[in-house]
Amino acid sequence: MSRFWSDHVAGLSPYVAGEQPKIAKLVKLNTNENPYGPSPKALEAIREAVGDRLRLYPDNDSTALRAAIAEHHGVKPDQVFVGNGSDEILAHVFNALFRRQGRMLLMPDISYSFYKTYCRLYDVPAELVPLDDDFGIRPEDYAAARPAPIAGVIVANPNAPTGRALSLEQIDAIAAAHPDAPVVIDEAYVDFGAQSAIALLGRRDNLVAIHTFSKSRSLAGLRVGFAIGSEEIIGGLNRVKDSFNSYPLDSLAHAGAAAAIRDVEYFDRTRRLVMATRADLTQRLEILGFKVLPSQANFVFASHPDHDARELALALRAEGVLVRHFSQPRIDQFLRITVGTPEECELLCETLVKIQTKTH
Ligand code: PMP
Repeated sequence: MSRFWSDHVAGLSPYVAGEQPKIAKLVKLNTNENPYGPSPKALEAIREAVGDRLRLYPDNDSTALRAAIAEHHGVKPDQVFVGNGSDEILAHVFNALFRRQGRMLLMPDISYSFYKTYCRLYDVPAELVPLDDDFGIRPEDYAAARPAPIAGVIVANPNAPTGRALSLEQIDAIAAAHPDAPVVIDEAYVDFGAQSAIALLGRRDNLVAIHTFSKSRSLAGLRVGFAIGSEEIIGGLNRVKDSFNSYPLDSLAHAGAAAAIRDVEYFDRTRRLVMATRADLTQRLEILGFKVLPSQANFVFASHPDHDARELALALRAEGVLVRHFSQPRIDQFLRITVGTPEECELLCETLVKIQTKTH
């Protein structure tokens, strides 16, 4: 408690991210990073920017990067908003679109933990919609009529930490049911097999898709994310951004991200490698007795009938393999395992066999 904090800050706890270990030899499958690293062209562009651009202030409007993103996704630059990772974009979304509406935000009860944090930070009341028995999002639950208008909807597609995805038809049904409310789709993992809501923007001006360079473009350390939506919605985000952050991205992030989005060949090759390894890893885990949810993300969500998930995560950690365990009810018997290289996944499975033989 502090004399200086307001009540809503006292109710929060500092964010504890998935562990970033200091020991080099760990197999790190706990925070959904991409094992293949950024496009060599992005690294080259960053090196050039180091030599060339750091003396100058960055471009306040991120003009070149927004143009590159717009071209890649077939939209206008004014439909693109960029920020320091999609977490920052989400903060702007909650601030500009959901806050002070005096209405409920609909979101899944099990999803990316930051949504609940931002609800508290920005005083947004939420209606938590339960996942179905197979840990899927049921679009009907979001499209059903409610007694009062809503502040909006936010869902992750694919959802985190389950990895399960909605189809475009299902997203369209949610957006169609609330034409006057923003429907935000967090597409952090969409490039690993799901379909982007960007394809629906022509007919649904209430949809916003949020993307990140941290996963499919392997640039988590650069901190770049973007939102694509109607010019009206993006205009709202620009208004809250301009009030306190006039330089959204630094010059290295501008250069690296623009080069990364242009390198379609590298992007396609590496995300296909992740998807192929995901299929192998799923099969291996099933052979070891795990139940694995069908994933369209760069991680799998798996539980074992004979092993407590928390203990399994600790046993793996003791062997130098990091995976993620959540203590939240309903999912506390699952492990979220990032799809690493085939070698890393092999090491994970060998370690699991070792642990299983020890405990039986
Ligand atoms: N959304 C989801 C669903 C995520 O899992 C993450 C990363 N853990 C983010 C957004 C934030 O990613 P970043 O800030 O690195 O863009």
